[in-house]
Amino acid sequence: AEETLRQAQKMEAVGHLTGGIAHDFNNLLTIIIGNIDTVTRRLDSSSDPRAKRSLDNALKGAERAAALTQRLLAFSRRQALDPKRTDIARLLAGMSDLLTRSITETIAIRIHAPGDLWNVEVDPHQLENAILNLAVNARDAMADGGNLTVEAHNLVAEAGNTAAFVEAGHYVVVSVTDTGTGMTPETVAKVFDPFFTTKEVGKGTGLGLSMVYGFAKQSGGYVHIDSVPGAGTTVDLYLPRAADGEAEAAAEESVQAIELG
Ligand code: ADP
Repeated sequence: AEETLRQAQKMEAVGHLTGGIAHDFNNLLTIIIGNIDTVTRRLDSSSDPRAKRSLDNALKGAERAAALTQRLLAFSRRQALDPKRTDIARLLAGMSDLLTRSITETIAIRIHAPGDLWNVEVDPHQLENAILNLAVNARDAMADGGNLTVEAHNLVAEAGNTAAFVEAGHYVVVSVTDTGTGMTPETVAKVFDPFFTTKEVGKGTGLGLSMVYGFAKQSGGYVHIDSVPGAGTTVDLYLPRAADGEAEAAAEESVQAIELG
């Protein structure tokens, strides 16, 4: 619990800080991009092609920086969740094209969800984002190819049968597994820290897993990482089961009855 609090405070502080900086940067980059655009349009066919190429490069750099600040802004805002009863099997099926396009040809992907999967109560867009983040990390860990598995299953957690970090209850566990580089325990200990990244500048922000962590916590769930250097990584998202349909309908009815009565 203390670890969770520390992590939440860190995210809060980073959120405030990056929000302000990213906002100002975004404005400045808009000015830079606008001006490059103006100059580019003023160049005519007789202009030095090297000048045009330099401007192109400057534009590409500025646009990459703008994309990065957009991600920082999204992180700092961490839009309020809009939880809905969500069918994860359908959500995964809907993501299959996107996931396939996000990986490389040398990676084989398998998506599996059983037919009797429970519903969960989460923000479906944020869940898609989280899964996409995990898939991209998996891809980056498998530069030489490998297997990516996205799988979901029901779990009844009781004292003694499940990892200690999970409170007793019903969960749908979404697992993203890769056969990539894996991580040392020292790295695993740092991956939820905002801005922790081992990727080169411009490739990673170090915000992906912090966002996944924030999403899971805000949804009343957990994230757990199992990683073996040289063998691969599994990230498990534990998402609390939604109150079942019948119970929910009954509860709604009784609320109406009270209001009417
Ligand atoms: P980013 O992907 O921008 O670096 P993340 O927070 O998503 O930010 O990940 C932080 C770091 O954790 C990565 O730079 C990488 O070192 C490590 N990591 C995350 N996922 C994996 C994975 N599936 N396999 C190996 N390392 C990983």
